[in-house]
Amino acid sequence: MTAIYAVRYGTLATTRGASFLDYAQYGQPDGPQQLDYYYWVIASGDQVILVDTGFDPRVGRRRGREVLIDPVDALELIGFSARDVDQVIVSHFHYDHIGNVAAFPTAQISFQRRELSFWTGAEAADAEYAALIEDTEIRFLSDALVDGRARALDGDTELASGVVARLVGGHTPGEQIVTVETDGGLVVLAADAVHFYEEMELGRPYAVAHDPPAMLSAYHALEQMRLDGATIVAGHDPGIVTRFPPAGLTRPGIVVQIAA
Ligand SMILES: [Zn+2]
Repeated sequence: MTAIYAVRYGTLATTRGASFLDYAQYGQPDGPQQLDYYYWVIASGDQVILVDTGFDPRVGRRRGREVLIDPVDALELIGFSARDVDQVIVSHFHYDHIGNVAAFPTAQISFQRRELSFWTGAEAADAEYAALIEDTEIRFLSDALVDGRARALDGDTELASGVVARLVGGHTPGEQIVTVETDGGLVVLAADAVHFYEEMELGRPYAVAHDPPAMLSAYHALEQMRLDGATIVAGHDPGIVTRFPPAGLTRPGIVVQIAA
């Protein structure tokens, strides 16, 4: 049995113009856009696996994001503590996905080697990229690889029974999604391969794209998975909390159940 939860720990009121690449091309007026922050929990057999760990609340507040709950504390709402976490699968290295990795001292960490290479390379020093990361957090992951706590993946890799990390790129060079086989069918934790469902549904690229054609290819691959019956879980869509039923010991709008 595999249960999957999405934890909505933060939010931002932004605009559609700031959310989509070259939004003016659609000839629609700008307007408000809510962007929510999530991480995901897979409880499979006796393993607890996190996909991403959210932003560090101090970093999020400094960047003007509203913190709904401390991401580490939020685990308790579904009955887990930080020490219960066996694995952290990192979708990519932006600050809102790796902020609390150090809070899970017994977890094996995995990410794509291509992601680490990019963020520890010369190109990442460019201001447009540097704005998306926290240097200390990148260093933590880089050190974790040296210490043997982290594993660098070269493409698609099964990390637990039925849990597969898949390299898609696009949003960042080493962006990966996680597919999970459940009793109810395949669940795809898309992270930032799809921030908002309409990116995939309308072929409308997100504003931050390392490689826009690769990002569009990822949308197509995910749309095909959806047509084949998979449940796609977008990475920042405010609709997650209405698409999936509430779960956890909490006020509404924090934890939802993706699979039971
Ligand atoms: Zn993100």
